[in-house]
Amino acid sequence: MFEQLGLIGCGLMGGSFALALKRAGLVKRVVGYSKSPSTTQKALHMGVIDIEAPSALMAVSGSDFVLLAVPVSATEAVLKSIRHIVTADMLLMDVGSTKSDVVAAARRGLRDEVGSFIPAHPIAGREVSGIGHANADLYNNCQVILTPFERSLTKQMRQAQAVWEALGCKVQLMSPQAHDAAYAAVSHFPHLMACALVQNVATQAKGKEYMTLAGSGFRDTTRIAAGDPQMWRDIFLANKTEVLAQSRAFVQHLQQMEQLIENDKSVELEVLLRLAQQSRKQWRMKTNGSTESTDV
Ligand code: NAP
Repeated sequence: MFEQLGLIGCGLMGGSFALALKRAGLVKRVVGYSKSPSTTQKALHMGVIDIEAPSALMAVSGSDFVLLAVPVSATEAVLKSIRHIVTADMLLMDVGSTKSDVVAAARRGLRDEVGSFIPAHPIAGREVSGIGHANADLYNNCQVILTPFERSLTKQMRQAQAVWEALGCKVQLMSPQAHDAAYAAVSHFPHLMACALVQNVATQAKGKEYMTLAGSGFRDTTRIAAGDPQMWRDIFLANKTEVLAQSRAFVQHLQQMEQLIENDKSVELEVLLRLAQQSRKQWRMKTNGSTESTDV
């Protein structure tokens, strides 16, 4: 049980985490800080936080647990601003979608106190953002990737793992680099592709008309393109090398398929489509203790 959660970034992810932690009885009070005072006011009215803090530093003061739920590009500045009151007894954690850049930002931002910081990425979320969408159920049964590094303290690692498990999540450990390579393949690049797919239709002369004709296939393959542009801009730039590597590999597959179509290679084309069909049918989304085929 924590005495006080200092929540920095009272948006979808941070607000949902505070609600889940409170519901599980794991924290006595939540002190929140966000960039805009209107956000913390709303968080207070919604019961997400108990006290509004005028700065990140004030949110951390008196907290034994600090959660950063800000855009990944804000990590270093936020950590620098709180560094001198971080102690080796506190647990600091983030929820950012990229991890190598976050670990580098934490090293620069926290310096000697970086061992208290445990990088985390919950595989949960929505296309909508902001405190208005915070929901205590957001993390139910989700996977959480923790990416400790050589400075991570054992006590904080155990605490971080225990907190997520107490919220019903399944915890997996990876290196920051392995995390970024994997999520470039199954999250970051697919998001980029979904945006390109929408743009490809929307910018055609008859694009608007075509979109009125689209059905569930277009809806399902492009759903994630409705995500927050600033958050995704940050993710693509933070994980540039891995995202571009996935993009180049994808273009090769696309070109191979184009050539088969161009040359009427029906047998080879069907073989490729069948391989993709089998891989997709065999895939099951991993959740806590089970797998499910529900699309996310
Ligand atoms: P969000 O709803 O927009 O919340 C972000 C919050 O951070 C906002 O309340 C914003 O404040 C605040 N903020 C921005 N810069 C700040 C700063 N310098 N200091 C203090 N607060 C600041 O976004 P989110 O979806 O919760 O995303 C938060 C993090 O979770 C991101 O790092 C993202 O990569 C990660 N993540 C998101 C998802 C997802 O599906 N959404 C999934 C997994 C991980 P204002 O409201 O005042 O602008």
